[in-house]
Amino acid sequence: MRLIFDRASDEEYEAGTVFCVGRNYVEHAEELGNEVPQDPIIFDKPISALRHGSYTVIEYPPGTRDLHFEGELVLLLRGGGRNIRAYSPADVIAGYAIGVDLTMRDVQTDAKRKGLPWTLAKGFDGAAQVSHFIPYESAPPFEELGFSLWVNDELRQRATTNQMVFSPEMLVPYMSRFFSIRPGDLLFTGTPKGVGPLQIEDKIVMQLHTQDTDEVLLDFHAQVTEWQ
Ligand code: MG
Repeated sequence: MRLIFDRASDEEYEAGTVFCVGRNYVEHAEELGNEVPQDPIIFDKPISALRHGSYTVIEYPPGTRDLHFEGELVLLLRGGGRNIRAYSPADVIAGYAIGVDLTMRDVQTDAKRKGLPWTLAKGFDGAAQVSHFIPYESAPPFEELGFSLWVNDELRQRATTNQMVFSPEMLVPYMSRFFSIRPGDLLFTGTPKGVGPLQIEDKIVMQLHTQDTDEVLLDFHAQVTEWQ
């Protein structure tokens, strides 16, 4: 899938691996009764889970009665291979987006209890929703970014990057110890507090904005429908 920048960019990327971070905001770890990790919790989603655009559809998947939204800041990675040490954001980050890490919470809770993988709970078709990207070069510094998520016009999540437990300059070198980072890889950077269930016909709106001025940089809209 070709990734789309919402403003002019000379670069082109095909979507690669969809990496995700778990429990990267203290208050979200607490709301699910989890400990804040010592090392980042990394998982991934199949590429078939990806839905990309400014207006998308979330199909309510079979096998769950508790589909949760998790609003997240998403990084588009330039690559860099294995053992990325000298971290310069411009060398690693090609762009920013906002997205939703959709989770079958009941299935995930059962998997956690049994010590089983999360792939089914977090990897079904449409489980990785990503807006268009803003190129790194035309975005404010990472430290100035924030995002918000509304469900049916009600503000449910609002966060700033300084609330993350692990920043990209910690996450990307850590991941590259184990994975070769390739151009077009995506990184969902974790969700803040406020996650909750979705119902068919719910409407999600997300905005990427700055922390202080609430300058809106990107927006994203998704509608929950029945599984087709
Ligand atoms: Mg998440």
